[in-house]
Amino acid sequence: MINHIITNLFHTIGCLPFGIRAETREVGIEGLKSDKSYLIMPFEKHKSQLGKLKYLKSVTIVLLGLFLTISHSSWSQNQRCLTEALLPSITLDEQEQRIQSWMQANPVLPRTIVTIPVVVHIVYHVGSPSENISDQQIQSQIEVLNRDFRGRSSQINEISAEFKPLVADVELEFCLASVDPRGRATTGITRTETTQRNIANNAFQIKDGLNKGIDAWDTNAYLNIWVGARADGVLGQATRPNEGSKDKQGLVIDYRAFGTIGTASDNKPYNQGRTAVHEVGHYFGLQHVWGDEDEPSCSTDDGIADTPRQNLTYANECPSRFDLETFSCGTRDMYMNFMNYTDDSCMAMFSLEQKKRMLAVLYEFRSGLLESNGCGMQVVSTHNPAAALMNVYPNPVTDELILQFTNLNQAYSLVLFNSLGHELFTQNGTTAPTTRLKVAHLPKGCYFLTVSSGSKTNTQKVIIQ
Ligand SMILES: [Zn+2]
Repeated sequence: MINHIITNLFHTIGCLPFGIRAETREVGIEGLKSDKSYLIMPFEKHKSQLGKLKYLKSVTIVLLGLFLTISHSSWSQNQRCLTEALLPSITLDEQEQRIQSWMQANPVLPRTIVTIPVVVHIVYHVGSPSENISDQQIQSQIEVLNRDFRGRSSQINEISAEFKPLVADVELEFCLASVDPRGRATTGITRTETTQRNIANNAFQIKDGLNKGIDAWDTNAYLNIWVGARADGVLGQATRPNEGSKDKQGLVIDYRAFGTIGTASDNKPYNQGRTAVHEVGHYFGLQHVWGDEDEPSCSTDDGIADTPRQNLTYANECPSRFDLETFSCGTRDMYMNFMNYTDDSCMAMFSLEQKKRMLAVLYEFRSGLLESNGCGMQVVSTHNPAAALMNVYPNPVTDELILQFTNLNQAYSLVLFNSLGHELFTQNGTTAPTTRLKVAHLPKGCYFLTVSSGSKTNTQKVIIQ
């Protein structure tokens, strides 16, 4: 499958996709999280180009006024999530301008399936071995992410006819990292014993190796997910693109709401891995469907054109498409959207416009993930597992690539893409053992070369310098 480009990357040399800036302006200020607001900082209300983004309501400043906590909700049982913020390194206006600019420059989205390398940091209390969840439970979460971000949720048939055309295949996949930041083989899972009970109550502690937690792996190259116990009723939290210092980017998820088996299996209604799906949505820049306000209303919105306004959060609810109470603000609510608080078993979709925004954030703010070697030097499409089909050299290259096919015993097709997934070159061939490709005329940068033969597909990254 030609369009199954997987980012199997060589760890390189400052290579960024064209027109994409590195994430450079994070502010490294840390603090403690608090449940209560002690001081409200006068915070400008930003207006996005859409005129829809609302700003966040409760701002907490603790320890010299350096740290902000943004609380999203306050329902009585579990709370779906909390996004956290340090002093923003860029304003919401700047963030929104970059997102809108990217979307305008890319009216046709990259036809690239991007694989996000994930590292899961399990931090468990020394006296609570059940917090040390199994590899299988972690893998069950990865499977949910892959299903839901490819538009294949098991609840897809429950979506009403009016929303079905809006279901997005976000074309993001997730792998447990196979290569660690030092280039060594890894399971993509770290396990840390701690003496701190409920360490996930404090997102900054669980992310701090000097304070009973564990440090992030390079957050440019990996999606870091910390999993631990928390006792404050919050299921998960995430840093959004303009939030948090570089070394704190990622998700924190309660170990009982992670994956679908083990400690999650009897934690209804949060037992189907949707907390992490929701938080990855925030990580890629999505708001709740009703916007950022604590209390939804018909005057608030998420800046997404195809998610109708709603004045309900659907917390602890599981409506069906036949439910007449799923109307608000004059239209039916997209209660099954992953960015609602709906029960896990009743979530089903991201929308097409949410997909655009997530990809804009990926390419504009988290482009290091596109460059990461975390999924290994040679990643073969998960849909067509096969041995590597070619050796490509020299790489980096300046003039001409030599492709030496291995394992090919039938006709093949070859496609060269740029980093935005635009096809630059195609070639169909037979079983010749080598072929050559002139690349001197192409701009310097990162490219992807995909060879397909029969049911096998193999993509490799190529650097032209
Ligand atoms: Zn949320």
